[in-house]
Amino acid sequence: MFSIQTFIRPHLLSLKPYSSARDEFEGEASVYLDANENNLGSLAGGVDYNRYPDPYQKTIKEKLSKLKGVRPEQIFIGNGSDEAIDLLVRLVCEPGKDEVLLLPPTYGMYEVSANIHHIGIQRVPLDEHFQPVFEKIAEKQTERTKILFLCSPNNPTGNSLAPNTVEKLIRSFNGLVVVDEAYIDFTDTPSWSTRLDEFPNLVVLQTLSKAWGMAGLRLGMAFASPEIIGFLNKIKPPYNINAVTQELVSEALDKTAQLGDMLDVIIQERTRLMEAFATLPLMEKVYPSDANFVLVQVPNANDLYGYLLKRGVVVRNRSTQPGCANCVRITVGTPPENDHLLEALQTYAAQNSA
Ligand SMILES: *Cc1c(COP(=O)(O)O)cnc(C)c1O
Repeated sequence: MFSIQTFIRPHLLSLKPYSSARDEFEGEASVYLDANENNLGSLAGGVDYNRYPDPYQKTIKEKLSKLKGVRPEQIFIGNGSDEAIDLLVRLVCEPGKDEVLLLPPTYGMYEVSANIHHIGIQRVPLDEHFQPVFEKIAEKQTERTKILFLCSPNNPTGNSLAPNTVEKLIRSFNGLVVVDEAYIDFTDTPSWSTRLDEFPNLVVLQTLSKAWGMAGLRLGMAFASPEIIGFLNKIKPPYNINAVTQELVSEALDKTAQLGDMLDVIIQERTRLMEAFATLPLMEKVYPSDANFVLVQVPNANDLYGYLLKRGVVVRNRSTQPGCANCVRITVGTPPENDHLLEALQTYAAQNSA
């Protein structure tokens, strides 16, 4: 049976976290002289920005709890899910000793966080359908491998990972299995957060940066057992989510109807782009997508990238990623932006078929 206690870095088990003024006093008072704030007010906005924000983001967690069907004590909120990735590495990986296991091609921050903390990286590439290969992953794990990062739907490939393989990996991996679901809102596949009570080693990441359209506010979520969430709270910067973000996010989380409308447009446009791409001889492969982007393979990704740039369109060249030779990742834009992209691609294709 998995026990998180045996995976936490020993010195963090007994860490006494920073205790903020607002931690020590819970309740209502009329005079706050406990935190060295400026009680005359704030030069920003005239609202209560002179006060430190809620370190545990209770209002947001209540709303997320209802939206996501997880209990508030199963939710950690980070300054983007990138902060959650970084804190998870810090929580269980001993610098210079431990390792994480990555399945490339995948999101770059897992590797960056591991490198920052001097954590080793083991890699087992996804297969030709960008699916994890269970036996090879199982073979690669050693007692030093503390985290397996899975990204589903995967960035930059766009596909979801096969649920039965993911489940086998969660069941067999002796360490934390982090399933990064940054793009979950663009697919019908259920979130792994509905299975938290079954898997004590499971951490699910989501973010408001993609479907919710709030990348600039920086808010990401980790869903896991209350025990794991407790340790993340212990090591996080005390006021990691600022007051403006907490306010705006709290309002936005009520707008689920508008979220649905935006998702409809993005998914419709994704289909339109993929159908149009398929008619261009230039496109050697158009990969299936459960996300708000499409990965395509072309004869010369550098050349296409340069051409689109001249036409004012920036896409992401993913050619250096394993299994992604001459691949370009294209985000689904607004309908007029997508028109502009398609016109540019048609012109490029005509020029290059002459
Ligand atoms: C964009 C992205 C994130 C980043 O999320 P933030 O909440 O903006 O930090 C995390 N994981 C994946 C796979 C992403 O593509």
